Amino acid sequence: MKPRPSFPAKLPASASPALASLKPAPTTFAARPLPAGGNRPSPLDQALARHAPASSMPLSSGLGLDSGAVRERMVAKLAAQGVRDAWVLQAMGRIERHRFVETALAGQAYEDTSLPIGLGQTISKPNVVARMLELLRQGASGKLGRVLEIGTGCGYQAAVLSQVATEVYSLERLRALHEKAKKNLLPFRLPNVHLMLGDGMLGYPKGAPYAGIISAAGGQEVPMVWVDQLAVGGRLVAPTLTASGQQALVVIHKTATGFDKQVLEAVHFVPLKSGIA
Ligand code: SAH
Repeated sequence: MKPRPSFPAKLPASASPALASLKPAPTTFAARPLPAGGNRPSPLDQALARHAPASSMPLSSGLGLDSGAVRERMVAKLAAQGVRDAWVLQAMGRIERHRFVETALAGQAYEDTSLPIGLGQTISKPNVVARMLELLRQGASGKLGRVLEIGTGCGYQAAVLSQVATEVYSLERLRALHEKAKKNLLPFRLPNVHLMLGDGMLGYPKGAPYAGIISAAGGQEVPMVWVDQLAVGGRLVAPTLTASGQQALVVIHKTATGFDKQVLEAVHFVPLKSGIA
């Protein structure tokens, strides 16, 4: 493995063509524990309580919604649906998904549904996020090493990834979503998450090789540069168009001599597009 690059990268923009297209410099979040519930319900907690069916959303000590209990319920459901990786289940239980969606949608944040995040993009269903992270981590006993995420969106999956991998580099091509993710992630203070505005189709050579690459947007095929940027033994998980014209999850495992490719279940992801906007 190459040594970990130091981020944020301070090279002049002209030093590397790849870096020149990735502006601004990666955002790193300073260390601090995950936000706790606090004593008073936040506007989001109040919205959760308002939108939730009373039977399925417990309230904590009369002070508003205990979103931790709702997440525990979501995690139990994920486990019942077949998610086994304890690291993934724990991460899904820790990251407050309702903080990544509009207040009006907060009540649906722990349901098994994808939700709009603006600009025609969506945050994936919890069980799709969990399934993909489990596939990415297949065979890993502890934390994964460096991971590259294509499609930061609202930043939710990057936050979950931060709990199961040592470093997360996440690329988003839409400036407004890149900014939104920065704002959403700020209170979580995740020092190992680096957000970058850039075209994920080019990967991010500066951080390569990666133990894992995960795409939240589906292309015609898996860009070869992603495989190139994967470490030997690393895994890539990406929704990709298959021969039948359907989108399916594709897993690529890089070996010393080449790579193995598996085509799994059908999925519906937003399209992978080139360039930044
Ligand atoms: N993981 C995200 C899901 C976002 S949806 C979350 O948790 O919210 C997929 C995202 O991929 C969209 O925001 C879309 O703009 C982005 N995307 C599509 N093509 C891309 C590309 N080439 N490079 C970077 N991001 C891309």
